[in-house]
Amino acid sequence: MTDFLSTGTLPAEYRDLALTVRDFARQVVAPVAAKHDAEHSFPYEVVAGMADMGLFGLPFPEEYGGMGGDYFALCLALEELGKIDQSVAITLEAGVSLGAMPVYRFGNDKQKQEWLPQLTSGRALAAFGLTEPGAGSDAGGTRTTAVLDGGDWIINGSKQFITNSGTDITRLVTVTAVTGQNDGKKEISTILVPADTPGFVAEPAYNKVGWNASDTHPLSFTDVRVPQENLLGERGRGYANFLRILDEGRIAIAALSVGAAQGCVDESARYAQEREAFGRPIGRNQAVAFKIARMEARAHAARTAYYDAAALMLAGKPFKKEAAIAKLVASEAAMDNSRDATQIFGGYGFMNEYAVARHYRDSKILEIGEGTTEVQLMLIGRELGL
Ligand SMILES: Cc1cc2nc3c(=O)[nH]c(=O)nc-3n(C[C@H](O)[C@H](O)[C@H](O)COP(=O)(O)OP(=O)(O)OC[C@H]3O[C@@H](n4cnc5c(N)ncnc54)[C@H](O)[C@@H]3O)c2cc1C
Repeated sequence: MTDFLSTGTLPAEYRDLALTVRDFARQVVAPVAAKHDAEHSFPYEVVAGMADMGLFGLPFPEEYGGMGGDYFALCLALEELGKIDQSVAITLEAGVSLGAMPVYRFGNDKQKQEWLPQLTSGRALAAFGLTEPGAGSDAGGTRTTAVLDGGDWIINGSKQFITNSGTDITRLVTVTAVTGQNDGKKEISTILVPADTPGFVAEPAYNKVGWNASDTHPLSFTDVRVPQENLLGERGRGYANFLRILDEGRIAIAALSVGAAQGCVDESARYAQEREAFGRPIGRNQAVAFKIARMEARAHAARTAYYDAAALMLAGKPFKKEAAIAKLVASEAAMDNSRDATQIFGGYGFMNEYAVARHYRDSKILEIGEGTTEVQLMLIGRELGL
């Protein structure tokens, strides 16, 4: 798996997957991307197509209905989808890396048997409920509580900005909650909440700047009662376990961001050869060609950063710093490239139906979600002993 770093070529199974997803993104995702963005509608038909291809099961073993691939395969799929439509890519990223992965990593046999086949099939989605109105970057500030009562957890509180939490196929939300105190510190645990549990409500969806076709809701929990066995992983390890999930997730968000950055290059290179001003293609002006060359360099550098972080992760080596670096440089590449691409498209770049305009609106959240740019810098600094 790590050979590609030295040879510059992907092994055949990865290359074939990337090409298949590229084809799907062009044929199935691209034609409806502007419509779902304008209507703020969840792309159920696209999600069903991704489910048919097995994308929601990519990094999971076959015994749970997965494809038996790995996390790097997921990243390649996210890069290809991210080129065309970030909303679709984040739906897959959140479904796999934030939704199903906590169950796979920390669930017991019974929980895995119950949930993973549904989630890996892509016919059901799970959401990841960490962020709260008063706890974002400082996620340890969780106020949601879970109290044991006669063999059940009673959950009260709220979550904010939760992806995939209110679709027609959302079946599960995994939440962090305070389950007690240890030496004066909050004991935070993770609990599985089936979406049809009374007292659980996905409030009306947000009106966002971008990622309009991705599903995002505030969540409320009022005396939500679930069996004690719905504890996911060890009691008191919930926060630490979610941080591990976020370390991995940063590589996936970096891959999605590289897709966005590359999508902007592809659109710009094509447009700069077609669009004429002053009697010649605008790409003949070095000012425009250099801009696109720099965009390509950003995308390329960010790709090597996420490949490197993924290689370390799959080799079982520490990857926290490299994942943070990949997320940092890739999200900035997406933001910078989408701004440059919009400039290259001129007035058309400001029209919502154009892909570069969508990337311009969509890319900002890449610098915020799954840890802001400042949080990545904190993580990198800490790894340097600062
Ligand atoms: C569309 C969308 C989807 C999301 N999906 C999910 C999801 O599925 N599940 C989930 O749990 N969460 C989700 N989130 C939440 C996301 O992870 C948080 O918004 C993010 O972590 C930042 O938290 P915050 O919004 O509370 O900002 P804050 O933590 O309040 O930060 C505000 C600003 O202060 C800066 N800052 C904070 N502390 C420091 C510091 N110590 N040093 C320097 N700067 C600092 C931040 O970098 C940021 O710029 C989503 C958010 C959005 C917008």
